[in-house]
Amino acid sequence: MSVRAQSHLPLRHRHVRIGLTMITGALALVAVVCSALAMRYQERIVEASRYNGTFDFSQGAVELLRLQLALERRPQPNQISEINLRYGIFNNRLKVLKSNPILKEAGYLPMVENLESQIREIGETLAGSRDIAVLAQQGQRLTPIVPSLMRLVSVSHARTGDVILQNQQELKLISAILYSIILALVAFGAILITLVFRQNGKLDEAVRTDALTGLSNRLDFKSVITSPAIRGQAHSVIVIDVDHFKALNDTLGHDAGDLLLSDLSRRLQRAAPDGRLVARMGGDEFAILYSGPDADRRSTAACERILSIMRIPFLIDGREIHSSVTMGLSHSGGEGETSDELYKNADIALYISKTEGRGRFRAFRPDMKHALMRRQKLQADLGEAIARDEFFLLFQPIVDLATGRTRGFEALLRWQHPELGLIPPLEFISIAEESGQIGAIGRWVVEAACRQAARWPESIFVAVNVSAKQLTDPRLAEDISSCIRSHGITAQRLEIEITETALIENDETAVRTLHTLRENGCRISLDDFGTGYASLSYLCRFPFDKLKIDRSFVRNAMQNTESITVIHMVCALAEKLGLNIVAEGIEMEDQRRLLQAASCQYGQGYLFARPLSANDSEQRLGSEHVFALPLSA
Ligand code: C2E
Ligand code: MG
Ligand code: MG
Repeated sequence: MSVRAQSHLPLRHRHVRIGLTMITGALALVAVVCSALAMRYQERIVEASRYNGTFDFSQGAVELLRLQLALERRPQPNQISEINLRYGIFNNRLKVLKSNPILKEAGYLPMVENLESQIREIGETLAGSRDIAVLAQQGQRLTPIVPSLMRLVSVSHARTGDVILQNQQELKLISAILYSIILALVAFGAILITLVFRQNGKLDEAVRTDALTGLSNRLDFKSVITSPAIRGQAHSVIVIDVDHFKALNDTLGHDAGDLLLSDLSRRLQRAAPDGRLVARMGGDEFAILYSGPDADRRSTAACERILSIMRIPFLIDGREIHSSVTMGLSHSGGEGETSDELYKNADIALYISKTEGRGRFRAFRPDMKHALMRRQKLQADLGEAIARDEFFLLFQPIVDLATGRTRGFEALLRWQHPELGLIPPLEFISIAEESGQIGAIGRWVVEAACRQAARWPESIFVAVNVSAKQLTDPRLAEDISSCIRSHGITAQRLEIEITETALIENDETAVRTLHTLRENGCRISLDDFGTGYASLSYLCRFPFDKLKIDRSFVRNAMQNTESITVIHMVCALAEKLGLNIVAEGIEMEDQRRLLQAASCQYGQGYLFARPLSANDSEQRLGSEHVFALPLSA
């Protein structure tokens, strides 16, 4: 099982990354400068080898020699043009030589300037007298200059070599620096890439981790369930939902809610050590993935363990909090079933499990899809049911066990659906609660019950079931009071039946509404007493007028001595607390006797009457000659 550790990217890493990036940038800059320098040195080497002064000097020496020879040969007048040509060539060469920087560097400038003045004189002679003897004389004067020019050839040669060598050395140095920088850049780049990869890994983990619990989140769950690594294996998915988590969050605060979720995540990991993944899918919803051999058996066992581990109360801020979870389970195995369908099936099973009562789990069956569709249809049609007059009330007598006479009636709602027939309240009340339609339906019930009570004698009360959701409506008490007034009945004749869930879910608001109702004169009875797990604590928190022992105790009373003991205890307790007590679901005479023996005053059940239509209820009262009896039950 993989449980992800909470990950935070440390600040230090960020600083290292910024530092490395800056160093890499600076090195890259230096590398660019070095490359520019290297190119410059290279250009210098090329330049030195291409514009070689050595050639100019050696050519100059040859051309001077030719001029000297032409002069010394005592030329005939017709050969003057050749001297002119030689002179012209060398004169031009001299201009080129004069611009060569080596002359100055090597101290040969005076020699060349001397040569220049001689050449100028030769030029003047050539232009003036054209005296052959003078020309020959001047040719002889050139003799010592030729070796100097030849020396310049080797000086220039050596000088060019020096320039090339020097630039080569600098190029070598720059290249070495450049190589080092490139190596450093590669190293830093490698470190940076490693860091980026590592951080990406951490980011990826953070994206797939639930920050509160450290478990995988929905994204990770989806990617694991669809990963090729587990394709082809058998899977089971458990979807877990915390019961009444919103109420807990509202009453104890979000911090307490967070603590509960964290604690729950640890419990889930303990309960499913062989699961492949435990994930928080969001809010109060968790999921566990089982894969591999026996996934169905192992996941079912995990559900059992989760239920038993949830019986241990949570210790939050020094308070013991009881909480439960409802689960849906689905196993792979269907043809072409995708992981999405598997999850959806578990979700449907969870939904159905919730409608059957919380704190349990159900494994998905294909017929659940039909049940879900039926619920969705009922929910859609509920909106129109009042307007289409599809609701009606039945009234089940509540009788005095000693005399069998009717003391009041419990109003029981029925829905005559145009296509699906008669729908029992156990099916549609939870849908109405879920969709928020219970408010309007509840008002209709109180109205219809009060209208009917007004037709009965004064002594007969009517009990109305009010669901937990209705008690959250702050206008409920006022609505009921005005309904009572408008039908001209006394408030004592209306009894409000609530179940323990009303107090579990909406503790404070519910208790406030109940107090107001009671102050207005209505009576409050606790329905289905004994089916919740904390009944006695609720008895201390609210001053009820009546307890209704759940029919499961009455049903078991004949076979089960524990149920008889509970009935005796509850009756004794009610007597001590000054509460009236009604036993529900009495179907046999033996049960009636047993309850009477336990000092239970009132009863309700098929033994006395099934729920009756309004007309039948009036006939029953007529046959009992009930008129103006004191209101006692
Ligand atoms: P509940 O308040 O405990 O109502 C008693 C249920 O027990 C009724 O079922 C009644 O028909 C049934 N019952 C009475 N005597 C016997 C008996 O001897 N044997 C057996 N097996 N059952 C008996 P029903 O009418 O189906 O109502 C079921 C539940 O639906 C009620 O339980 C109540 O919680 C809820 N409910 C009914 N009407 C309303 C309503 O108007 N508003 C709300 N919020 N809930 C309602
Ligand atoms: Mg009831
Ligand atoms: Mg009941």
